Amino acid sequence: MSNWIVAIDGPSASGKSTVAREAAKRLGGVYVDSGALYRGVTWKVLQQGLAADDSDVVARALGAMRVTFRLEDGAVRFCIDGDDPGAAIRSEEVAGSVSHVAAVPEVRQAVTGWLREMTRFGPLVMEGRDIGTVVFPETPFKFFLTARADVRARRRRQDLARQQEELDEGQVLCSLCRRDEMDSARPAAPLRAAPDAIMLDTSDMTIESVVRHVVEAVRRHDRGAEPGGADR
Ligand code: C5P
Repeated sequence: MSNWIVAIDGPSASGKSTVAREAAKRLGGVYVDSGALYRGVTWKVLQQGLAADDSDVVARALGAMRVTFRLEDGAVRFCIDGDDPGAAIRSEEVAGSVSHVAAVPEVRQAVTGWLREMTRFGPLVMEGRDIGTVVFPETPFKFFLTARADVRARRRRQDLARQQEELDEGQVLCSLCRRDEMDSARPAAPLRAAPDAIMLDTSDMTIESVVRHVVEAVRRHDRGAEPGGADR
C-alpha cells in the first residue's frame, strides 16, 4: 500500500486528535489536523481586528493570506504570512469564532484544496469534520468518532486547563455544543459521518482500544479484507 489516507471525523473533543496522532505514528503516516487550518485562518482574521462573522470580510482577508506548509515531527505544520500561530489557535476566542469562519464557502474551498495537496507529504492520517465526506471521499479508511457530551466537556476542560484557561464544565459544554450545532447545520460540508464510515463511540473506550481499531482496520485491508470487517 503506498499513498493511503485515513479519515478520522467527528465532533469536538470526541478523541480524534489523540487517536489520529497515535495511529499515524503506528502506521507510519503523516498526521494532519485539518481543524488547525480553520483555526489558523480564524486567528489571522481576529489578529487583524476583522469581523469573523462577516463572510465577505473573511473571504477578502483569506484572499490576502499566504499559507505555507512543512513537515515537522511526522505532522504537517503551517505558517500564515510567515508566522506559526502555535498554541494561539487553541484559545477560547478562536474557538468562539471558528465555526463562522469554517462556514464561509471560500474558506472551505481553499482549505479543502490545501488538504488534498498534502498527499505530497506521503500517506496521511487526517482528522476533521468532512474528511471522509468531502476531502477524501474515495478513501476506504473512514472513521467517525463520537462521545457523550459530558465526556467531551470533561476532555476539553482538561485540554484547556493544560493551556492555563480555566472554565467550568458548564461553560465548556455550552461552547462545544454551540460549535457542534453550527458545524452540523451549515450548508457547506456539514459535520456528518460518511455512509461507509466505521462508527466508534469512544465514551467508555480507552485511547489504546480506539487506536487499535483504526490501525487494525487499515492493516486488515492491506491483507485484502474489508476495512469494516470482523470486529466492527
Ligand atoms: O477539530 P477542531 O475542533 O480543532 O476544529 C475547529 C473547527 O474547525 C470546527 O469546530 C469546525 O468549525 C472547523 N472544521 C471544519 N472542517 C474540518 C475540521 C474543522 O469545518 N474538516
